[in-house]
Amino acid sequence: MHGSWSASSRRRGYSAGSPRPEPQGFTSSADAAISLDEPRADREIDVERRDEGACIARTRADGPMTKFWSVAEQFDRPALKRLQERQLKALLIYLERTSAFHRERFAACGLRPIDFGGLADLRRLPFTSKADLEADTTTEAPPPFYRSFFVDRPDRVLRWHRTSGTTGTPVRVADTGWDWHAYSDVSAEALYAMGVRREDTVVIPFGYGPFIAFWIYISALEQIGAAFVASGSLDAAARRALLREFRATVLVSTPSYALHLAEVAVDAGLDLASASSVRLVITTGEPLTTETKRRLTSVWGAETFDRIGSAETGGIAYECPDAAGAYHVQENHLVAEVVDPMTGAPVGPGEEGELVVTPLYRRGMPLVRFRTGNIVRLAAGGRCQCGRELLSLAVTENGVVLRRADMLVKVRGVLLDPAAVERAVRGVPECGEGFQLTIDRVGQLDEATVTAETRLPLDSARRADVARRLEESLRRALSLRVNVRLVELGALALDGNKMKRVLDRRREEQDDAVRTSRG
Ligand SMILES: [Zn+2]
Repeated sequence: MHGSWSASSRRRGYSAGSPRPEPQGFTSSADAAISLDEPRADREIDVERRDEGACIARTRADGPMTKFWSVAEQFDRPALKRLQERQLKALLIYLERTSAFHRERFAACGLRPIDFGGLADLRRLPFTSKADLEADTTTEAPPPFYRSFFVDRPDRVLRWHRTSGTTGTPVRVADTGWDWHAYSDVSAEALYAMGVRREDTVVIPFGYGPFIAFWIYISALEQIGAAFVASGSLDAAARRALLREFRATVLVSTPSYALHLAEVAVDAGLDLASASSVRLVITTGEPLTTETKRRLTSVWGAETFDRIGSAETGGIAYECPDAAGAYHVQENHLVAEVVDPMTGAPVGPGEEGELVVTPLYRRGMPLVRFRTGNIVRLAAGGRCQCGRELLSLAVTENGVVLRRADMLVKVRGVLLDPAAVERAVRGVPECGEGFQLTIDRVGQLDEATVTAETRLPLDSARRADVARRLEESLRRALSLRVNVRLVELGALALDGNKMKRVLDRRREEQDDAVRTSRG
């Protein structure tokens, strides 16, 4: 019995044999080949794949077909590899025809897409970085802005999104109708795996911003058939009331905003764990540390799972409810590599490296070997308890993304990891969810200050004690002396729904130094 089902049964009275919703609009050929309407809880079934050869779609006696969104997510390693190589070849042939940028790169390493022989050939190609996208951008011309990266017809663009630009120039992402529907399917697969069903009512607190993540979840929910409650411009108190009014069962949010909502409830004298119908919190957009996950699970009285992706490549991996600490990479939609950020060489299970992604379904703005900037650790291979044999990323106390390759801050020669700061703040119970690391240059010296919100107003003696303990906690975590400033709850503003964790106010040249880890 795995977690999400038991929670479903408790809160909603689902049976494990609820019919699998039919993905609408966009299904893989494998999906089309078989009918999945009837739960098949009682036996193993074999599914003949027309394109990929024979493959076993595994079900367990207590885990019916309803556990999976698509057939391809259940492929074994050889079938996944065949699927990827076939789609990669088609993608590279398409790019040779449509993109000068990619054509030049193929030629430079002597690769003719028509002769593409497999994943080893992919590794001959150079990486694509955010800097490549920036260099190719021209905002003087009308959209699609890119000289080479957007390769479809401009009139086919269905959605424009933009990154916040917190680590450089904002990146504009164009999705054609095809891309958007395919991307929704990828996200629906992840939400479904984490336990979202058509019976759910979902609140996604975000405010019509340019950031892609929450928009795609609305489309994904439409594919699943779950109900979405709009809460665009409402403040936290009104959103909390909305969750209650509609008996929402799922919250999809950044971790910091989910904690913020919980604090608002506590302020109003509510115990969410018993008063809320939310059974599942899905986080995205910010690192989910082990400590934050524990707190979310406790304050919401709900299971908490996380999803990672990047604005440029779309969704990448989700936390498996069956296997604590594993994020499954959705390899049936993308090719993932984990490489040494300096040398670009692949690293093995257990080693840290940068996550590099090639989405297989994109046609408007396809990217080949895109460096996500996320430093992750590959888990040992093998089939997960859930039945999937997808690559898995290992979770650490900092979350699945150990750090951003470009977000480490160097202070007095020491590389500071914002996640380590977060852990230290979470270690002091009087501190609230909000905190910010500020770096200033005072004379020739870097000064690091952590500003942290306290849960309750404190008298001066108590305040001094909390500050001293936070200072000590930070010194242990960072091996560096850091100033501490305590402020009242709500004093640190959320930027959109995200808390700006690091504010580096030193000169530009310093920024260049901290970016060198990108290679
Ligand atoms: Zn799993």
